[in-house]
Formats: sequence, C-alpha cells, structure tokens
Amino acid sequence: MENKEMKHYLEAAERSYQWHQRYLKEMKKCRFDTIAVHGIYSMQEALDFNQGSIIEPIYMSTSQTYRDANEMEAALSYQIPTWCYSRIANPSMYYLEGVLALLEGYGAEVDASCIATASGMAAIQTAVDPFLLPNPKDPSGPVNFVAPPHVYGGTFQQFAVRKETERNITWRKVANIGDIAEWEKLIDENTRFLYGEMPSNPGQAFFDLKKVIELAHKHGIPMIVDSTVATPALMRPLALGADIVVQSVSKTLSTSGFGIAGAVISRKNLTSNIDNPEMKADFAMYCKTLPNRDNGPNISPMNAILAINDIRTLRMRVDMQSRSTMAVANYLGNHKHIEQVDYLGLESHPLHKLASEYLWLVDAEHDELYGQPVNRYGHLMSFRVKGGARAARDVFDAFSRIFRATDLGRIKSVATIPAISTHSQQGEEGRKLADVPANLIRLCVGAEHPDDIIADIDRALAVLDGNKVFFTAPDFSAGGASSASLRK
Ligand SMILES: *Cc1c(COP(=O)(O)O)cnc(C)c1O
Repeated sequence: MENKEMKHYLEAAERSYQWHQRYLKEMKKCRFDTIAVHGIYSMQEALDFNQGSIIEPIYMSTSQTYRDANEMEAALSYQIPTWCYSRIANPSMYYLEGVLALLEGYGAEVDASCIATASGMAAIQTAVDPFLLPNPKDPSGPVNFVAPPHVYGGTFQQFAVRKETERNITWRKVANIGDIAEWEKLIDENTRFLYGEMPSNPGQAFFDLKKVIELAHKHGIPMIVDSTVATPALMRPLALGADIVVQSVSKTLSTSGFGIAGAVISRKNLTSNIDNPEMKADFAMYCKTLPNRDNGPNISPMNAILAINDIRTLRMRVDMQSRSTMAVANYLGNHKHIEQVDYLGLESHPLHKLASEYLWLVDAEHDELYGQPVNRYGHLMSFRVKGGARAARDVFDAFSRIFRATDLGRIKSVATIPAISTHSQQGEEGRKLADVPANLIRLCVGAEHPDDIIADIDRALAVLDGNKVFFTAPDFSAGGASSASLRK
C-alpha cells in the first residue's frame, strides 16, 4: 500500500539519504585519523538525533517506536532507513559499521558497506555462508571453496568441521600459498570463493594478494580476506580489488579487550557465480537485512561503542606497536636460546619482501614524523625456543609482565603457545600444515615501553640457564570464585 502519508516518509527518507551521501563524500576527503575519530557521527547527527552528545551514545534499547502505521510499514519493508529491532540494526551498531566501511575503503574509489557481528567467527560465517548454498540445478551436487590451511584456529574448525564434516562442502587447501598455479588448479565450476588470511595468525603466512584477486575474478568468484592482523591501518584489501574483508574486531581494532566483535566489509557489486543480484549489489546490506536478520549473529550496541572508542587511535597504536615489535624481534634474533624468530618486519623473513609490498602505515607520507611511505608490520610475531615443547613452556611460565592469554591485539603484551591453545583442536596433522610447532610462542607486543617487554623476555629465557624466576606468586589457584563454581 502506498498512500499520501507513506509518501511523506519516503520523501523524508530520500532527503536524509541524499544528505548522508553528501556527508560521506565530504568525510572521504579527510585523512585516516580524522575518519577514525569521527566516522559517520556528524555534528548534525549529534544535534538532531542525540541531544548534542559529542560521543556516539550506546543505544541499549531493543527496538524503535514509530509515529504511525505508515511509518512502521515503510520501515519494516525497508523502504526507509530504520533500525526497528536491535537483532538487525541499531544506531550504535550503525556508527561502528559506518566507520569501518570508511576505513576499509580509505584512499580508494571503493564504495564499501559493513555489517558488524558478535564475533570474528560470526563475521566469517556471515561472509562465506551465502556463497555455500546448494546449486539450485543440482541440489546434491558438489560445492567447494579454496583457502590455505594457514588460518586462525577457529576458522580452521569452522571450515573443517562446520562446513566439511557437517555440510559436505569441500575445503580445497592451498598448501603452497605462494604458488598461484596451485591456487588455480584447485578452482573448478563448483568453487564458490577464494579465501585467505594475511598475515595469518599465528604463522604470518602471506601471499601475493593482487594475483590471487585477479585469479578469483578470472573465474568469476569473490576473494574474501581476513585482514584482522593487518587492520586497515596497514592494508586495505578492498582497495586492491578484494570483494569482502572480514575483521575480528575483538583484536587490534578493539585493543582494550573489552569485548568480542567482528565485521564484514564488502564492496558494492561484487563478483560471484551465485545468481542473486541483491546479494551481489550490496553484500553487507543483504546479510544485514536477510540472513543475519534470520540467524541473529549481530553485535551488541555496547560492544559496538567500545570498539568505536578504540578504533579512534588505530593508526598511532599500530605504528607504535609495530616499532616496538621490531625492537623485540631484533632482540630475540640475537638470543642463544632462540631457534627462529618469525616476524614479517625482519629482513631475514622469507616473506619480508612480499609483505613490504603490502604493509604500509597509512598516511605516513602525510605524517610530519615520516613525510614518506613507511612499511610497518604489525604487532604479531612468534618465536621458537630451542629445546622443544618443554623449553617453550618453561619460558612461557616465567613471563611476569607479558600475560599468558589466548589473545592478541591488546594494549598489553600477551603471549600464547598456539599448539596447546588456538591450534589444539586440529591435531598434529593440522598444525603441521599450518606450521605451528610445539615450541612456538606467539607474542603480541602491547603499548608498554619495549625495554620492559624485552626485560621480561630476557628474565624468562634465563630459566633455560637454570636461573630461578624471582617473581612467583603464592598459590591462589583454587581461590577464585569462578574456579570454585566450576568445581561444584
Ligand atoms: C581471533 C581471530 C578470528 C576470530 O575472531 P573472534 O572475534 O575471536 O571470533 C578470526 N580471524 C583471525 C585472524 C583472528 O585472529
């Protein structure tokens, strides 16, 4: 039904849309830091809709009220902008989605859109599932996707168990990711997408993304990139031609560690061999209004605002933490108990040259400190301790500043042993494929002064010389409320 009153709402929506488009256009002229700080939260948005609040408010409300039946009808049929119900959309979520779309599209003529999810894993599921539907002409026919095994442990499980075992979708693994011919050999008419994580967590695997994107498009399928480790401060795959970027917003983007979050950022009019014009036109919006509306994996407004707050300082943090990581890597490279240091920033790393083509600190050329393009390699590194799993565990146990946690991207330094944590579920074979040996410690360098991080590692490595750890806590391990409740 379209009556006169509904027309009024549609016209108002059109004016609002035009205004927002103009605002976005202006925003796109700004530098990265300005976009990170302001995003799509304009002064107009503050004054007209948020009582002048200079910071994006947290809309914890479940739902939105409407002026009348006409507005409700127009809203719920998606004819006017609305958030209606927070499982689908919400102003706080919208502010996060807006800033991420702008940052991933920064510096390129890319029209991007974003959907924020409750976790990085939900983002990956959101990004890949619409491509993995059965072929309507052959409902029981084969479906596959091509991706290296060098992916985050959770992604490995989602692909290997949730897709392969449970749904009979084949994950064709690219063993040698530097070999474009191998990628191509694995593609056939049932391949739905190419997927890659780069740099990978924890192995920092890296491939020639531009070539793989070209390959995907030659075969009419999308390229999906997990760019969590790089963040848009160092690499923006959409600008290189990728179709979809997934982010675990829980990591470097939300550095304070206040919540789990994820995001899917897609280009408009993406490439796909699925016959679904609406999906291809605006993938993120399609996911938001249809599959995710029905499945419900979207982000909470609270976590959205916490993420926004951290994103404002993304570029400066990534720069500083990259430099500190380089200092730590150089220190470890000269240590007698270290078998190998894996950091893309080291010239000795076999992928250093390739990574240097891709990882650039955004806007370094506009920074008075640098005045020219500068490579930065992020704050994820790993090192292998001589003496195998036992030695690695002893060193790990001796950290007193670096937190032992299965986490990364934090403002505080954190370390984990992937073989017993992130990569424990996939077995010896899977770890071998992903190059995650038992003596490997993954370290993500925080924003502490690097001297203090190095001192902590130095003390910890000294246990291998028989030195005692001086900082030992009394045994509280049975005392916490949560451990007590677990023991019931
Ligand atoms: C952590 C991580 C994920 C999963 O994100 P969550 O927010 O923990 O669900 C996906 N990809 C990479 C590279 C990650 O590091």
